[in-house]
Amino acid sequence: MSALPSAAHDVPRARFRPPAVPQVEVRGFWGARVDAVADKTADILYQRCVEAGMLDQIDPDRPVPALRIPFHPNGTVTMQMFWDSDLGKTIETAAYCVYRKPNPALEAKIDAVIDMFEKLQQEDGYLSSWYQRMEPGKRWTNLRDCHELYCAGHLIEGAVAYYQATGKRKLLDVMSRYADHIGTVFGPNPGQRKGYCGHEELELALVKLARVTGNHKYMDLAKYMVDQRGQQPHYFDEEAKARGADPSEYHFKNYEYNQAHKPVREQDKVVGHAVRAMYLYAGMADVATEYGDDDLRKALDRLWDDLNSKRLYVTGGLGPSADNEGFTSDYDLPNETAYAETCAAVGLAFWANRMLGMGPNTRYADAMELALYNGSISGLSLDGSLFFYENPLESRGGHNRWKWHRCPCCPPNIGRMVASIGTYMYGQAEGEVAVHLYCDSTATLDIGSAEVKLTQNTRYPWDGAIGITVDVDKPTRFALNLRIPAWCRKATLSVNGAPIDLKGVTEDGYARIEREWKAGDAVQLDLDLTVEQLHAHPEVRQDVGRVTLKRGPLVYCLEGIDNPLSLNRIRVPAASSFTANFEPGLLEGVVTLAAEAEADATGDWNGDLYRIAPPQTETVPIKAVPYYAWDNREPGEMLVWLRGG
Ligand SMILES: [Zn+2]
Repeated sequence: MSALPSAAHDVPRARFRPPAVPQVEVRGFWGARVDAVADKTADILYQRCVEAGMLDQIDPDRPVPALRIPFHPNGTVTMQMFWDSDLGKTIETAAYCVYRKPNPALEAKIDAVIDMFEKLQQEDGYLSSWYQRMEPGKRWTNLRDCHELYCAGHLIEGAVAYYQATGKRKLLDVMSRYADHIGTVFGPNPGQRKGYCGHEELELALVKLARVTGNHKYMDLAKYMVDQRGQQPHYFDEEAKARGADPSEYHFKNYEYNQAHKPVREQDKVVGHAVRAMYLYAGMADVATEYGDDDLRKALDRLWDDLNSKRLYVTGGLGPSADNEGFTSDYDLPNETAYAETCAAVGLAFWANRMLGMGPNTRYADAMELALYNGSISGLSLDGSLFFYENPLESRGGHNRWKWHRCPCCPPNIGRMVASIGTYMYGQAEGEVAVHLYCDSTATLDIGSAEVKLTQNTRYPWDGAIGITVDVDKPTRFALNLRIPAWCRKATLSVNGAPIDLKGVTEDGYARIEREWKAGDAVQLDLDLTVEQLHAHPEVRQDVGRVTLKRGPLVYCLEGIDNPLSLNRIRVPAASSFTANFEPGLLEGVVTLAAEAEADATGDWNGDLYRIAPPQTETVPIKAVPYYAWDNREPGEMLVWLRGG
């Protein structure tokens, strides 16, 4: 058995870091999505935050506002506590958007918000509009419920993005001071609190801060908080006793809700609140990447297997229950009542993207792509103005997009994810480039010794032909790792017209081409996009006898507007042959799927509700549209899992 490197501080064997947003110019499918966010969503987010009263809370020059959102019945939490996080994500979205399309008016508004935070920051670096303005004197008394460090994390992410997009470092400096302060309060040394947040987020944010500032102590603090989680004596118990509360009266009964039920390296089931879980695992993956920590990686792979083999919707949505906004039991994946919060699918994309930090492997990229193209962007209307919180896989027509939510976590989360999509497409390491996602785009990547420009020319996901042109200043040796998705049954690859034997060069679903690349070298990859009918594991009771249509990365659904009969009357025979048609005028241009299917006939029932004779069947044409684009026309029925057989 070969010796594995021990965990902490070993030099990682491979460390792929994502490019910053400005390194990737996105066009094509995602370009249109980014433009919707830049043209509409970014301004809407700011405006809705203002309307909610958030600026009244963060601006120290204004009178302390009244409580606008009541405390939760358990008396410890109001969503108003999280307003700093909503502003943090709004700043982050705006940062990526003003980089793509100058928007001086929005940039000035964001600058003003940043000025407020700077003015609000205390001498010692502490910064929380809730605890400074609404509940002074109570800081660090309830990390379990009150999102104090979570808010810090989102402001840090906003600060990093704003700095990368605009070069302005005021918020980055403010948040570095706050992170310095947090690092004095929390840690392993005598006199320091052994705490971490009840809503994970700070961990992954500290890694971003460490990468952009080069200050490794932020990385160490992230690692500390990851490893301290779930240790005994339990911080949340001690903290509750210290504020005079009974730990056993915790609303969620046990610490599975916030993944603090045991140390993270011992965890093997994805449990609790889905967004919290995804943010934790994302932070763990960053730490595993940065420290070359194989123990942590093993824990992550156990969790990954659990999610992907038992607890993930076919859309990449996750967390079926509204009760805990999270996970329930194995194979419990109800469709009409699926909670599947937009933020949770966004969080899965975060986690998967960070698993790729440890090296290209299409098991992670496939899930990332699934969440990106389906269960996350379903949460944003095509024009960028309306939102879903829940993303069910079946609707009778009553589930429609809204303008805003009292707990507005999802709108800025989907906004920032879409606007930063370029960072998900590539990984860059010493002498290595990984292409995780295909999309018309140009990326300038840092491989240590040189800069490599890659231009993708493709209509993906509508078409599987992908041309990639390499541009380097001088001939440069590096490895280009191209993802061959696991869903793809047939792929061909060539370099400068010479075919490459994929079998000989593919490992973990990535074709690795190492050579001396010259400017103008052309790679051609063709991925077959056959329409497939997917079946669910037989233990998923809600999907028994049903199929889902999938083409490439896209999951399809039927909508009532295209199929004017009750959708559950329709049956898709196994031998159905689907044609894929690009319809430029529909839903901003989508490939629809059409076939002849069967439907149970109703014409001969003569008023009966029940009868011995089974229904007659009739042939009906059906048309399916990509799931992400549903509910962008008139309200109506929607169905992902169709009766099959
Ligand atoms: Zn959300």
